[in-house]
Amino acid sequence: MDLQDRLEDVRNHMRKAAVEAGRRPEAVSLVAVSKTFDAEAIRPAIALGQRVFGENRVQEAQGKWPGLREETAGLELHLIGPLQSNKAAEAVALFDVIETVDREKIARALAAEMSRQGRSLRLYVQVNTGLEPQKAGIAPDDTVAFVTLCREELGLVIEGLMCIPPADENPGPHFALLAKLAARCGLDKLSMGMSGDYEVAIGFGATSVRVGSAIFGTR
Ligand SMILES: *Cc1c(COP(=O)(O)O)cnc(C)c1O
Repeated sequence: MDLQDRLEDVRNHMRKAAVEAGRRPEAVSLVAVSKTFDAEAIRPAIALGQRVFGENRVQEAQGKWPGLREETAGLELHLIGPLQSNKAAEAVALFDVIETVDREKIARALAAEMSRQGRSLRLYVQVNTGLEPQKAGIAPDDTVAFVTLCREELGLVIEGLMCIPPADENPGPHFALLAKLAARCGLDKLSMGMSGDYEVAIGFGATSVRVGSAIFGTR
């Protein structure tokens, strides 16, 4: 399969999973994860109409996206990897959506930078649903309080929640937990599901899935 077939295949599976879950296919968007792939590998996906992309490193994204944005208007770039506060200025300048807000320090740095640059990015709070020590994200039990702090103390608009379930577990319960926490926060956007489990995630209410290798190939 070439890129066109893989991209169509993912879009078809997304549509099917949405219909099977009794949801509207338009309610689920595809974030094409292009990390490790260079501009030349990404360009054909843009030519095929894909507009939303995810990157996990600020510096890597800076090397390819300013040029790609000059070629095509209307691209939307999501940061899906951990953010250090010393990179907040660069991240705010480059990305449209940051999906990995997970601690007060970074939330404060983003609030300050958005105000300084006059930009308002869409933000997701990352939840460590499996409480994995090596993984970023706020603990499930702390999520409601953290979202409240972001909104009320820092004036941030939080759009939704994001999670990456443990690689060796059934992801369903993690997706269900994220959906439950989002409802408690009054949020209706859920970023969950990757190449191996995006159809399951759509069944649990994902409003965006982050798919890399199923589109661009193995890294
Ligand atoms: C790499 C990555 C993805 C995509 O993973 P695939 O298995 O290649 O689809 C999704 N989300 C995050 C946070 C990632 O780092």
